[in-house]
Amino acid sequence: MGKTIAVIGAGISGLSTAYVLANNGFEVTVLAKAFSPNITSNRAAAFWFPYHVRGDKRAITWVETSYQYFKKLSADTASGISFKKIVKGIKEGISDDDSWIAFMPANTCKEVPIEQLPDGYKQSFEANVPLVETQLFLPYLQSILTDKGVVFKEANVTDLQSIASSYDTLVNCTGLGASVLCNDSSIFPVRGQVLLVEPGFPDAIFLDNQTPTYIVPRQDATIIGGTYEEHVGVETTEPETLQKLLAKASNVFPELQHKRIIGNWAGLRPFRETVRLEKEANTNIIHNYGHGGSGFTLSFGCAEAVLQLMPLAPEGK
Ligand SMILES: Cc1cc2nc3c(=O)[nH]c(=O)nc-3n(C[C@H](O)[C@H](O)[C@H](O)COP(=O)(O)OP(=O)(O)OC[C@H]3O[C@@H](n4cnc5c(N)ncnc54)[C@H](O)[C@@H]3O)c2cc1C
Repeated sequence: MGKTIAVIGAGISGLSTAYVLANNGFEVTVLAKAFSPNITSNRAAAFWFPYHVRGDKRAITWVETSYQYFKKLSADTASGISFKKIVKGIKEGISDDDSWIAFMPANTCKEVPIEQLPDGYKQSFEANVPLVETQLFLPYLQSILTDKGVVFKEANVTDLQSIASSYDTLVNCTGLGASVLCNDSSIFPVRGQVLLVEPGFPDAIFLDNQTPTYIVPRQDATIIGGTYEEHVGVETTEPETLQKLLAKASNVFPELQHKRIIGNWAGLRPFRETVRLEKEANTNIIHNYGHGGSGFTLSFGCAEAVLQLMPLAPEGK
């Protein structure tokens, strides 16, 4: 009873949900219009950090749970997950909301001595956080799920209820797709443009979310980001914006201006004031969408919350 699950969506929300449910004995089918690498989740930077979720107290548990999952998964180097130092800089003359500190796992965050700060910065914190290399982790997770018996099917879903009637439970992880599927006008795109330069520098992630600037050293590229453009729904980059990103990042690390440019991309964050994570009344549908700029940071924590909403644990678990 209660065993068959349709997860709609194959981004980080859908895959992490499928992972937690499959590990708990459910029979999971993932239905999605698009898969990695052609989804927003591939466009993420994707380091663990609580962005724009700090007004939602549920998120404290979610981000902490995800952190622990990433820690466990990072034991396999093929996962593309590593723990990196993140340095969060706060510029002179700018006041910072420090509520993010409450979301950091205990004793992971410390203040950086002032003499080590880049020019123009008045304060900085450092911590060790998971960096998820999306180009590696998403196919890796999909292949683990296949080994666990999860079935993947390509489908453009136009009506959740009609799919839900063939399963015990349906979990809706469609990101921005939920805007149409659920007629939810509170979710909208926030475009992020990033520039890629040759890899190898710097060692740590740098974040100044006031300007906003982030520099993320992956194996295949150093990502220089990024923009935060509300209600912009086209996945295109603009040469002049990319130039500005490089100029801002080079103010922090002048070496970056000499690095070879190897690419760029834009992605659309599925922003909602709060994540929709609830069971819809009188249906067998659970919603898990609207993770904005924190989809990786929230992923496994939200997936565990979905598990708690399941009406019946499967028999013979
Ligand atoms: C530039 C940028 C940088 C980012 N950096 C970070 C970061 O550092 N850390 C972090 O935690 N997050 C980051 N994010 C945010 C993160 O990328 C998103 O929150 C996350 O990818 C959302 O995942 P998702 O699975 O909910 O949605 P998606 O990845 O968009 O997946 C949605 C899935 O649903 C499917 N779907 C949609 N509609 C339908 C339909 N009608 N029928 C069938 N399938 C459907 C899609 O095909 C897809 O498979 C960043 C985002 C951007 C753009």
